[in-house]
Amino acid sequence: MCVGIGLELNKDFLPEHLCNRGLKVNQYLVSDNPDIFGAGDIAEYYDILHNSYTGGGTWANASLQGMIAGYNMVHPDMMKSFSLIPAYCPKTSLPIAFVGSCRLGPEMESIVIEQGDRYVQVNINSQNQIIGGVVIGDSAYMGTIRKWVEAGITIDTIDI
Ligand SMILES: Cc1cc2nc3c(=O)[nH]c(=O)nc-3n(C[C@H](O)[C@H](O)[C@H](O)COP(=O)(O)OP(=O)(O)OC[C@H]3O[C@@H](n4cnc5c(N)ncnc54)[C@H](O)[C@@H]3O)c2cc1C
Repeated sequence: MCVGIGLELNKDFLPEHLCNRGLKVNQYLVSDNPDIFGAGDIAEYYDILHNSYTGGGTWANASLQGMIAGYNMVHPDMMKSFSLIPAYCPKTSLPIAFVGSCRLGPEMESIVIEQGDRYVQVNINSQNQIIGGVVIGDSAYMGTIRKWVEAGITIDTIDI
């Protein structure tokens, strides 16, 4: 059995107008207030790969965003943009892998493909672009989904 309890973000101390699901930040991790940056789980960042807002939920995401936000705070004229396709294989007896955006928002959809022992859930955005997915039974297949996400291709162009 697999149970996801989700994330509860502590936004109470932040100005409400800067927040949506999390603290809304652009690709430089700056919010609408130029003195407030966001990094880690709390950041709902603008994903330049898919032109939409999304959130992370991994150590890799949090640490890379922390580094970039810190850099941008002290280099306001040379800000770096953040972009990452996160991948995550929890250490469980169930061979499950997550790649890209696994958190479904209002304009997203997921498509399930079952091939023998391999279960694949592909997540797509409103432009039908593949933005992430979950694989059970064949963790190596996450490499294939990662390539689709990286290339920004649409679901109708893949041969599964
Ligand atoms: C059970 C579990 C297992 C996980 N396993 C993995 C894994 O295997 N691999 C992986 O990549 N990721 C994993 N994650 C996700 C990963 O832990 C998070 O993505 C990461 O910790 C996010 O870092 P963060 O700094 O954004 O937030 P956090 O690590 O949550 O740190 C936020 C900190 O801010 C503090 N804080 C909150 N509000 C205030 C306030 N008002 N004032 C001062 N301090 C405040 C909190 O106490 C906390 O210490 C797991 C998460 C959970 C819950």
